[in-house]
Amino acid sequence: MPPITACNVAVIGGGAAGLAAARHLRREGHSVVVFEKESEVGGIWVYTNNTEPDPIGVDPTRPIVHSSLYASLRTNLPREVMGFREYPFTAKKTGQRDPRRFPGHKEVFEYLKDYASEFGISELVRFETEVSRVWRSGSGKWEVRFRNRNEEKEEGFDAVVVCNGHYTEPRIAHIPGVDWWPGKQIHSHNYRVPEPFENKTVVLIGSSASAVDISREIASVAKEVHIASWSNSNEENATLPGYHNVWLRPMIESANEDGTISFPQGFKISADIILHCTGYKYHFPFLDTEGIVTVDDNRVGPLYKHVFPPSLAPWLSFVGVPWKVAPFPQFELQCEWIAGILSGRISLPSEKEMMKDVEAFYDSLQASGVPKRYTHNLTGYQFEYNDWIATQCGFPKTEEWRKKIYHATSLNRKARPENYREEWEDEDLVLQAYKDIARQIS
Ligand code: FAD
Repeated sequence: MPPITACNVAVIGGGAAGLAAARHLRREGHSVVVFEKESEVGGIWVYTNNTEPDPIGVDPTRPIVHSSLYASLRTNLPREVMGFREYPFTAKKTGQRDPRRFPGHKEVFEYLKDYASEFGISELVRFETEVSRVWRSGSGKWEVRFRNRNEEKEEGFDAVVVCNGHYTEPRIAHIPGVDWWPGKQIHSHNYRVPEPFENKTVVLIGSSASAVDISREIASVAKEVHIASWSNSNEENATLPGYHNVWLRPMIESANEDGTISFPQGFKISADIILHCTGYKYHFPFLDTEGIVTVDDNRVGPLYKHVFPPSLAPWLSFVGVPWKVAPFPQFELQCEWIAGILSGRISLPSEKEMMKDVEAFYDSLQASGVPKRYTHNLTGYQFEYNDWIATQCGFPKTEEWRKKIYHATSLNRKARPENYREEWEDEDLVLQAYKDIARQIS
């Protein structure tokens, strides 16, 4: 069916979100240019040994390394849940590929390249082309300024879809006294391998999936690893089961000039390194919306359903803002929704209604005591959110097996962080998933 309106759309970023945007926009009949600053598609999944010269990423003039992957990283979701619904992430058993259910990062990169090639997306990508400014001109068109091989250019588009990722700009913990503390600090964005931690006493801050993986990995070489987190109590003074040199600690109270780190109730240790596994900030350095879209304490807003700023919809949209989700299948839905709205096939509520919805959402977060910085954390309702968008698009709702496997994996990861990638009890669901996938691709 030809689209009601075909638009000329700029997609910023050629990671998983940008690839999905290009796929769905083009399928809808729009013309698409993907701007990608690197020389390959894949975004965060393009692993590099390079790190940034400022290890905690506070210097705004530092050269940016996009990827935050460490060498040993394996997915924290099983492939059947993680993959796009339209293009399942099934194992390819050739010598070059990694067939594990929770594969290494290279396998995800290969999968994204396969996706791009399957749908002819690479031809839409302008590689090594960094977008430096996006703004709305007087005529209502969106102007994109970009640089390619030292040449700066501008081009006008009907719409812009922002897919620049949100795992590159480090968020670091505020530690009283740290400016005078003589040790070394690093953010997990710049963590690659454990060797630099050999024989060191490390205080690792955080409790996310990366914090869990990295703490165990450095424990194999470090002298001591102290995992500090708001969720740890002061009482636990025993080592972590299975480790002679890892302790769970409450959050740091201060870092001191004499090289020590203080915890509550007067407990102190002498430490060499603070490793911040404290997450990332949303960052859109190129985007100029004259103050309409802001990032306030990691709330990107106002965004209707985490995608459209009401007063700029549908001409400006964001893919991939939510976290604590299975990203790829959600990207697919958000992109299908954006593509259908741009063509006029799917309609959006009025600006006023969208704004009211956003405000009601913010009010509900506040009433439940959810901090602003958790605005885009969809723990507990990602599938409800996905199904709402699926309904807008006329797509089937999330498969039951996907929800159940996601849930089972979260429980396993928490209960058995060391071996949840090797042992599981959801064989029956995996069988169902593969039956479903086989039916879909036959
Ligand atoms: P990205 O992959 O970051 O892509 C953004 C792209 O935009 C990049 O290619 C970048 O070069 C480009 N770009 C940025 N700015 C510009 C600009 N100004 N001009 C031009 N191009 C630009 N997800 C899972 O599903 N499973 C996992 O196991 C998993 N593990 C993870 C582990 C870690 C350590 C991290 C950090 C994330 C993990 N994720 C995982 C989440 C992961 O981020 C998503 O899977 C997904 O790849 C994000 O895709 P994206 O396209 O939104 O962003």
